[in-house]
Amino acid sequence: MTPQELKSLVRTIPDFPIEGIQFRDITTLIGNGEGFAATVEWLADRVSASGAQAIAGMEARGFIFGAAVSAKLALPFLPVRKSGKLPCDTIGVDYALEYGSDRLEMDPASVTEGQLVAMVDDLLATGGTACATAELLRKAGARVEHAFFVIDLPDLGGATRLKDCDVAVEALMEFE
Ligand code: IMP
Repeated sequence: MTPQELKSLVRTIPDFPIEGIQFRDITTLIGNGEGFAATVEWLADRVSASGAQAIAGMEARGFIFGAAVSAKLALPFLPVRKSGKLPCDTIGVDYALEYGSDRLEMDPASVTEGQLVAMVDDLLATGGTACATAELLRKAGARVEHAFFVIDLPDLGGATRLKDCDVAVEALMEFE
């Protein structure tokens, strides 16, 4: 499937979750088996080329793509979760996101010192979530150099923000 065909599988929901936001909905992309497989393959190729030794996925849609890529490449998957979800001792960071603020947490024992971890998420908007995740992973001792997204909204400046956090970005498709 071409990137253009994959892009046509993403549904746009106007005024969600608030008026004026065009929500890019990946549930229609993953609801197409061939489309989901091609998307995971695209991500897996990039993660593999990055030399990553593990993949971190951000709750919740980052789990869908990150876990699939991890299984395909037989790499460890590290779930980066919203506050209070993990049963173990955690480390966390507070961060601002497009629609409010939140906290991300992880198990500090899930990475080894100096391990190269790539981030995978469905969508890059302002870059707040991915920058906070990079900060969290680094706090745990990981090296973070790459982030891979299905969708980038370049007008919101996420890639520039991530570059400022020393993270290189690649995305399968862009929306205005
Ligand atoms: P950022 O932190 O501003 O880059 O926002 C990215 C995060 O918000 C990701 O974890 C996305 O899942 C979520 N997000 C923001 N806008 C959208 C959207 O239009 N569709 C799907 N997810 C979105």
